[in-house]
Amino acid sequence: MSLFRLLAGFIRQHWRPYSLSALMLLGVSILGVLIPRRVGHIIDELVAHRLSRADLIAQLAVLVAMGVAIYFLRVGWRLNLFAAAYQLGATLRTRLYRTLSEQGPGFYHGRRTGDLMARATNDIDAIEMAAGEAMLAGFDGSTTLILVVAMMTAGIDWRLGLAALLPFPFMAFGFWRISDHIHHAWQDSLGRFSKLNNHVQETLSGVRTVRALGLQARNTRELSRLAEDAARSSLNAQRWEAAFEPVVGLALSSSAVITLGYGGYLVWHHQLSIGSMTSFSMYLSQLIWPMFAAGWVLSLLKRGRAAWGRLGPLLGETPSVLDAGTLDTIKPDALAYRAVSFVYPGQTEPALADVTLSLAPGQTIGLVGPTGSGKSTLLRLLLRQYPLQQGEIVWNDISIEEYRLQTLRGIISWVPQEPFLFSASVADNIALVKPESSREDVERVARLAAVHDDIQRLPHGYDTPVGEKGVALSGGQRQRIAIARALLADAPLLLLDDALSAVDTHTEAQILQHLREARRGRTVIIVSHRLSAVADADHIAVLKQGRITERGTHRELVEHDGWYASQWRYQQLEASLDEL
Ligand code: ADP
Repeated sequence: MSLFRLLAGFIRQHWRPYSLSALMLLGVSILGVLIPRRVGHIIDELVAHRLSRADLIAQLAVLVAMGVAIYFLRVGWRLNLFAAAYQLGATLRTRLYRTLSEQGPGFYHGRRTGDLMARATNDIDAIEMAAGEAMLAGFDGSTTLILVVAMMTAGIDWRLGLAALLPFPFMAFGFWRISDHIHHAWQDSLGRFSKLNNHVQETLSGVRTVRALGLQARNTRELSRLAEDAARSSLNAQRWEAAFEPVVGLALSSSAVITLGYGGYLVWHHQLSIGSMTSFSMYLSQLIWPMFAAGWVLSLLKRGRAAWGRLGPLLGETPSVLDAGTLDTIKPDALAYRAVSFVYPGQTEPALADVTLSLAPGQTIGLVGPTGSGKSTLLRLLLRQYPLQQGEIVWNDISIEEYRLQTLRGIISWVPQEPFLFSASVADNIALVKPESSREDVERVARLAAVHDDIQRLPHGYDTPVGEKGVALSGGQRQRIAIARALLADAPLLLLDDALSAVDTHTEAQILQHLREARRGRTVIIVSHRLSAVADADHIAVLKQGRITERGTHRELVEHDGWYASQWRYQQLEASLDEL
């Protein structure tokens, strides 16, 4: 869709404020062109000594009243139009947010946060200006132009009108050439702003790493280079915009010379009155605005088009995981992976190869294996963060793709290795999915996650702000808060994706014990690099390079003498050394 179709659709949708604005504007333009005519008339009457003092005062009062009316109409129509344009900005931002929140990790892979932020701010601002200011200036400029030219040619003298307009086609050609440059200049400028935004965002998010590695100087140099580039590019766009003004000036002064020369000739030969000549000059000066408006509109539309060229494709992108299922209730039941194979987009090696696994309701299953063996991928597919490629995952014999995403995710509590805490209190972070929970409930799950004592030691206990703006918590504390959050959600399926990696073994055992006690038919999948976390599971699967190589209970696997047995012995030895 082009920017013009977007704007046309939007104007059609908001036809009321736009037509009200148009009507008010028409009033402004008509009053505007009547003024010079009246002034010319008054001058002619004065020259002919036909105007009494009282008449003159009355005529002047009419002029003042017209000026006041123009003032109010201008305020009214601008307010109407801008209200509509800001609405477009809000609509686009909401659409962008919805698109972004529907996308899975496949979409975000290879996209940068700073760039997405720039599109949500700078680019939408540019489109908003195209819908507001550009429409305002375009509408205002063209009606003024039509009326003024009509008054100059039909109302005063067509010969003088045509002569005075001779320089304008040259000006239009100049505008057309300049606006082409402006389009490219803005495209470049918006892209550079995105790059600058990315750099700032990444440096701030990774500020600790930057400092720890002593990269401040290098990062600052890079930032100043990007900032210089962005500034130079914006200046270049502004330079082209600035080129409009002299072109307008040149055209208008040529017109003024023609008017004086040819108009003077006509007055000399009594073919034009002095009053008409005055009116004509006033009309000529009224052309300044439409000319500037034309330049301004062209540049705003070019900027808007460059911005829409960046934003439109993003809005049009289909979600990386389709929400095409229709079922909206799930009975917690047996879960099974059937011959699931998966290759990440852009990769050649499969992350999962022919994985078959089943889980009876209420069971706990442990997934272990070396780093990169596909454990997290197995969970990501169940959460439908990526579309399934081969094989299927079924719940109660129904493929998970047949459920609505919201329904499927609603019955799963997922705790990743690095959970995200929002800028809110500890209690609010725990009660994230159940904000109506009582403090008792929040404390109960915090105890189950063995984090209650830690929270009580915080400066304001459960009311201590955490997240980006709050107190810094250790990785283990964050993980346990996330586990408390998942327990409060009380979903029938709990996925712990190495969610205890930063917790010591003693606390880990305590939490797992609590989990077993509070299980109440909940199915649990525990992914862990530490085997002690899965030793009590009903079933354990060992993954290696995407394939299940061993499976059984802890006892069976230890006896089997494969990867699990050797890893178990190694970790036991490590633990006993730690205790020394
Ligand atoms: P584990 O959880 O066992 O450490 P993962 O499931 O995270 O392993 O990864 C399995 C394989 O898939 C690894 O080889 C990893 O490099 C690759 N992988 C993981 N995430 C992505 C991704 N977003 N894009 C491409 N490859 C990925």
